[in-house]
Amino acid sequence: MAIERTFSIIKPDAVARNAIGGVVARLEEGGLRVVASRMVRLTEAQARAFYAVHKERPFYNDLVTFMTEGPVVVQVLEGEDAILRNRQIMGATNPEKADAGTIRKLFGTNIERNAVHGSDAPETAAQEIAFFFSGAELATLAR
Ligand code: ADP
Ligand code: MG
Repeated sequence: MAIERTFSIIKPDAVARNAIGGVVARLEEGGLRVVASRMVRLTEAQARAFYAVHKERPFYNDLVTFMTEGPVVVQVLEGEDAILRNRQIMGATNPEKADAGTIRKLFGTNIERNAVHGSDAPETAAQEIAFFFSGAELATLAR
């Protein structure tokens, strides 16, 4: 067990349904701390770059459209095993298959409109944090 940081997005569907607080409450109750947070409207170029790993997948264009349809909240979460813990609190990609009480079960609609993003490994967490937050910004926010 180690203190880690991970990257999280509250997606446009969850922001639109007034669930920012509901999502953050579950992250906090699950042992994670928000150490940086900002509301942004992703540009198409940002969404394409952020999800470039999926560019060959059939859902890529629809995913980019979805992620740019409204504002999102980008945030850095910290805690014990934050990367895996966040994925557990989020639940399965498909909300229909997500465990009861998970964010995606509570606030997701379908496999695309699934309320939250969370990094899946230490390397992607570092890349995704750096995509949205500068080192100087994070240093300013550090306790
Ligand atoms: P996760 O977000 O759980 O890590 P993936 O990395 O596989 O899932 O996919 C990234 C995002 O792409 C998902 O969160 C979801 O919004 C969307 N997505 C994944 N699979 C599908 C699919 N089969 N159809 C439509 N959208 C999908
Ligand atoms: Mg993923």
